[in-house]
Amino acid sequence: MIDLRSDTVTRPTPAMRNAMAEAEVGDDVFDGDPTVVRLEQHAAERFGKEAALFAPSSTQSNLIALLTHCGRGDEYIVGQEAHNYLFEGGGGAALGGLQPQPIHQEDDGTLDFGKVASLIKPDDFHFARTRLLSLENTTWGKVLPASYLPKAKALADAHGLSLHLDGARIFNASVASDAEVKTLTSEADSISVCLSKGLGAPVGSLLIGSADFIREGKRWRKMLGGGMRQSGIIAAAGLYALENHVERLAEDHENAHSLADGLKQIFDWEIEPVQTNMVFVSVPPQKMQDLVSHCKQNGLLVGGYSPEKIRLVTHLDISAEDIETVLGVFQSFDT
Ligand SMILES: *Cc1c(COP(=O)(O)O)cnc(C)c1O
Repeated sequence: MIDLRSDTVTRPTPAMRNAMAEAEVGDDVFDGDPTVVRLEQHAAERFGKEAALFAPSSTQSNLIALLTHCGRGDEYIVGQEAHNYLFEGGGGAALGGLQPQPIHQEDDGTLDFGKVASLIKPDDFHFARTRLLSLENTTWGKVLPASYLPKAKALADAHGLSLHLDGARIFNASVASDAEVKTLTSEADSISVCLSKGLGAPVGSLLIGSADFIREGKRWRKMLGGGMRQSGIIAAAGLYALENHVERLAEDHENAHSLADGLKQIFDWEIEPVQTNMVFVSVPPQKMQDLVSHCKQNGLLVGGYSPEKIRLVTHLDISAEDIETVLGVFQSFDT
């Protein structure tokens, strides 16, 4: 099967498994596991911040960020289609007593500052206290414009808000825009990064920020069940990924571009401009079921993202030859 549903489906490479097998470990809750400590230090340096925290998933690292920035009855402003609003089970509300204030995202993935400002609540006891602005990069495969975060920071500062960046795929943004991650994230007070997406680690996420923020976050991580023991075994995969799998994201982006270009020759269906490793194709709703089954019968898994759109995601386990095979499968679909 060629699996284009997500970049989470990658398998650890033999070299990554080897790094895991050889990892030096300890009890991370008692003393700090030496490999986890190395991973956290590597991340803090790479992002130009004081400290980092290794968590089992980005759902958890995003939740730790919400719980650390905000208290019960506080509010965070977030995109309507952002992962930590839409796809994380309402964790901030269920576990933190937080009120999300979602905002429709613009076509380029940004939140309009006028809308954001108009939804920041005044200091009046009728309202929840707005505490945090939460952004995402990449968002639905799109890279936030370079000038966006400094402006977001100015707005957040003017209203006393913290700024969180869900950077699950920040390395895709970095490679696509040829900028270091620390340049893309310097204004954020906290950043979460997924190791188990395009970077190809089997599990793991990092939360990065100031030493004080991470100290507080570590308490929440323990409470949420994210205190792990000989987690150097999985941290080793994350370190290996950060050292070996970042530059190669360019291949995923090239593959996504050639996939989109090829599909344009086959269909006149709308295809969103590709920026990183995701291709979104609008499919006539009455064709959707047939298309998805046709793909499956021909060894191709695609993500049915809505009744009228499929998502195709390139990753570590997809080669340029696979893209040719994929195009063949679409070519043989009877539109
Ligand atoms: C996948 C994803 C997450 C959550 O990551 P998990 O490790 O699967 O919990 C958070 N934010 C974004 C933008 C994501 O794409």
